[in-house]
Order: sequence, then C-alpha cells, then structure tokens
Amino acid sequence: MQYNFAEVEAKWQKIWEEKQTFAASDDHSKPKFYALVEFPYPSGAGMHVGHIKAYSGLEVVARKRRLQGYNVLFPIGFDAFGLPTENYAIKTGMHPRKVTDMNIEKFTDQLKHVGFSFDWSRVIDTTDEDYYRWTQWIFLKMFEKGLAFRDKTLVNYCPSCKVVLSNEDSQGGKCDICHSEIVQKPKDVWYLRITEYADKLLEGLNEVDFLPNIRLQQENWIGKSTGAFVNFGVKGTDEKLRIYTTRPDTLFGVTFMVLAPEHPIIEKYADRIANMDAINAYKAECAKKTEFERAQLVKDKTGTKIEGLCAIHPLTGEEIPLYISDYVMMGYGTGAIMAVPAHDERDYDFAK
Ligand SMILES: [Zn+2]
Repeated sequence: MQYNFAEVEAKWQKIWEEKQTFAASDDHSKPKFYALVEFPYPSGAGMHVGHIKAYSGLEVVARKRRLQGYNVLFPIGFDAFGLPTENYAIKTGMHPRKVTDMNIEKFTDQLKHVGFSFDWSRVIDTTDEDYYRWTQWIFLKMFEKGLAFRDKTLVNYCPSCKVVLSNEDSQGGKCDICHSEIVQKPKDVWYLRITEYADKLLEGLNEVDFLPNIRLQQENWIGKSTGAFVNFGVKGTDEKLRIYTTRPDTLFGVTFMVLAPEHPIIEKYADRIANMDAINAYKAECAKKTEFERAQLVKDKTGTKIEGLCAIHPLTGEEIPLYISDYVMMGYGTGAIMAVPAHDERDYDFAK
C-alpha cells in the first residue's frame, strides 16, 4: 500500500487544530517547559527553508518534553514591522495593514502545513495595537529613566527611495531596492544605554551554556570597554580634540592622529586648511561607503593629510600631524583617534 503524505498530514493537522492539541493549559501540577523561537518577519515571499531549519530543533525538544509529561508552552508570533512591507504598500498602493494581514495569513498556513506544534491560541503580531502599546510603554519607561536618548549618527540613505537602509540592504554602496548609489547621511537616531547594564549582562553569561564563539559574539555586542578620554590641543586655537583610548599607557607612542572625514573641526577650520579640495573629494568618496564597509578590518587603508592644521600632544607639547580616514567614524567614540603604530595594527597599516 502506498503511503499518501498529503492525506495523512491533512488528517492529523485537522485533528490538532480541532482539539487544540498543542495549546498550553493552566495545569500547575505538571513541570513547566518554555520553548521560544525567534518570531519570523512575514514577508510577501512566504517562508524559506531557513525558517524550517531554525524552528525544527526546538520543535523536536518541545514534542519530547510533552511526551515526558511537561506542560509545554511553545508560542509563535510575527515580528511584522518592516521596510519590505512598507515599500510593497507604497508600490501597490495597498494599505500596509492589509499587506501585513495577507502575509501573516500565508505564513500561518505554511507553518501549520509543516506541522510545527505551536500554541496558536497565543499568537502575537507586533503590529497589533494591543501588542505595541506595551513596546511603547517600555520605551517611555526607559526614556523617563534616561536609558533612551537621541544622538547623531551616519545612516545609509537612498536618495531615490528616500529611505534609510540597513547595512544588509545597501551592500556594495548600492540600494537593494532601486540600485541607486547610497550616501552616508547624518541623522538623529534613538539609542538605548545598554552599556549601563554591561556588568550585569556579562555576569549573566556565566549562567548560560553557550558555545565559545557565541559567547564571544555576545561579549562583543555588550561592548564593555575600559579606557580614558584624552584631550589633544589644536595648534593656534583653544580647540580641544577629544579622543577615547583603551590604551592610555601608549600615549607617548602617538605619532599622528586620524579624524573621521565628517569631523566638525574640518569645516570649522576650513579657512586654515590648505588642501580643502582634496579633503572634500575624499569625503565624497567616503559618503558612498556603508559603515560596515568602512569598519572592515581587512582592507587597504586610505586617507588624506590635513595640511595647515595640526594637533598638540597633551604631555609633550609636540606637534602631531592630522589625517582623515574612513576607518574612523563619527558614530563610534569621538570621531577622532590617536594613532600608535607601534601598538595597534590598524594604525600601523595606515602609517605604512
Ligand atoms: Zn533606492
């Protein structure tokens, strides 16, 4: 006898649906097990094999725990705010609410077809007013405590689509949607003061069983850094050129300084700078690169010397030449670094 997959699957999926087989009950007599997957972004294209790969591991665990007598909560939802939906709505003239609902319906149907044992009675949609009022509430609480703040940063901007793009959506300096050249544009954005919790987050890592490379990623993301701010002088002015360094002990090894091409000091003293044409040409080149490309460690360092302006070493009083280079960014630190080629690989590359 031939096994008919479609028939057997449809039969059981109907029974699971009717009997709410995988709904978590309020049964406190059983031990609890909570399995959480990253909720999908419901794009118009539907699910891809990566979703199935990502959810199958916990699917197996959740099913095993049920058989072992646990009261399992295996929820699902849709992380549904996003640029693709916004652009699709603009393109087709369809209301984003309608687009989102259609996409969620498609994903729901597909997830059920795969046979995942999610608790569909608790499904959430992040674009649902009853959901995001709490996101907003949490944000307000953080704002009240000074944990959410606004600051300037450079963003990837497509002048044609008039949207800000993620690094992923602007690779190679081109807009993913219309293939126009993107530019780096200064913009006010919101930040969360995660660094306030760096110690707590690092301690928390001791309680989880992560692979060493995942643990390192987390540590880098938490980004706790111990160092010092140092003010350099600028020759012939009262200006202070502020840098941040994790190696203040190498201060005597400074042979030059590098500024982000967008550093405000350049515009401010433009009349003293002898090679503004070369600097402006370099800035225009940088504006086409994404922050990600600029931060790449393995690449040739480029830059231009600032003629007619130099810094003063805070301890020795020596004149320190100034350069601009795209590996220094306004969005990180102070937008200026002291360069110590003897102790830092990037500085050494640039010096060469
Ligand atoms: Zn575009």
